[in-house]
Amino acid sequence: MFADAPETTGRPAPGPVAALREIGFWLERGREQTHRVKAYRRAADIVAGLDDDELRRRREARNWQELAGIGPKTAAVIEEACAGVVPRYLAELRAAARPIGAAGAQLRARLRGDLHTHSDWSDGGSPIAEMMGCAAALGHEYCALTDHSPRLTVANGLSAQRLRRQLDMIAELNAELAPFRVLTGIEVDILADGSLDQDADLLAELDIVVASVHSRLRDDRDTMTRRMVYAVANPHVDVLGHCTGRLVEGGRGTRPESDFDAEIVFEACRRYGTAVEINSRPERQDPPDRLIRLALEMGCEFAVDTDAHAPGQLDWQGYGCARAVACEVPPDRIINTRSADELLEWTRLGGD
Ligand SMILES: [Zn+2]
Ligand SMILES: [Zn+2]
Repeated sequence: MFADAPETTGRPAPGPVAALREIGFWLERGREQTHRVKAYRRAADIVAGLDDDELRRRREARNWQELAGIGPKTAAVIEEACAGVVPRYLAELRAAARPIGAAGAQLRARLRGDLHTHSDWSDGGSPIAEMMGCAAALGHEYCALTDHSPRLTVANGLSAQRLRRQLDMIAELNAELAPFRVLTGIEVDILADGSLDQDADLLAELDIVVASVHSRLRDDRDTMTRRMVYAVANPHVDVLGHCTGRLVEGGRGTRPESDFDAEIVFEACRRYGTAVEINSRPERQDPPDRLIRLALEMGCEFAVDTDAHAPGQLDWQGYGCARAVACEVPPDRIINTRSADELLEWTRLGGD
């Protein structure tokens, strides 16, 4: 598992495709700008698409840069990997990687999966297979794919038809990746009236439904409380995503918390068996500590999720774990410490 950088030195050197992808992983994990990461991921795809003949010819001729999308930096990585050594840039990234959320390490070791991730079917940067392959490499037993719902057009949200196609693809992928399990899912928008942005029969088929507010974040307190309670009480909803909508840092700027009556919303979460998400993204850190503590006191359950939009971001779970530990959330109140079967049993129960 490549997340433990210092321990990996004894492993055989990766081939060119694996080396380029691992560079992508470390850059994403380190919160690098996506355009820097893209060059490496694109180069990996290009090399992966070559047939054996062409690979051999280019290895001998060392003319990788003739290929559109391969520049001097990616060519150097390919050449070093072809020579059977760990490319210098990859070795540097491995050596420079620091543990994420050290205070949460024990809890992180108990998490068996991630319940909120995105692929390039909506606004993520990588194909489903790469996201899930990385989740498995990080030691997860399962990972839910929760791409956006149709009305979030800026994020290329999935129509019912596209989501159905995605379910077929996941069924095939599950056959390949077993015993690792890709859980089907969605991050469904909570609409202005609290209803959900996808057909109820389709939501009923999914393993994990994360419901989040992405629009009208400045609704007044009563309206927002009503919207959220209505969504949380929906029998298909399993997790309430990034509940305050705040942004505390990063390229998108900052955004204040939405205004809602947290006691009423968390009581609905407890009553209807909807987990409160602890969103691990560094720019979200949502909910804030005081609300994690309130939800805990009120008897809610939690999901520590990454909301990853790239494979390397799947390793951000440590940030959320550190926050859960700081707020003294016990592991048995975190639904993704459970096995996939226990988790799916829990989602079927839906509250007391
Ligand atoms: Zn979201
Ligand atoms: Zn998301």
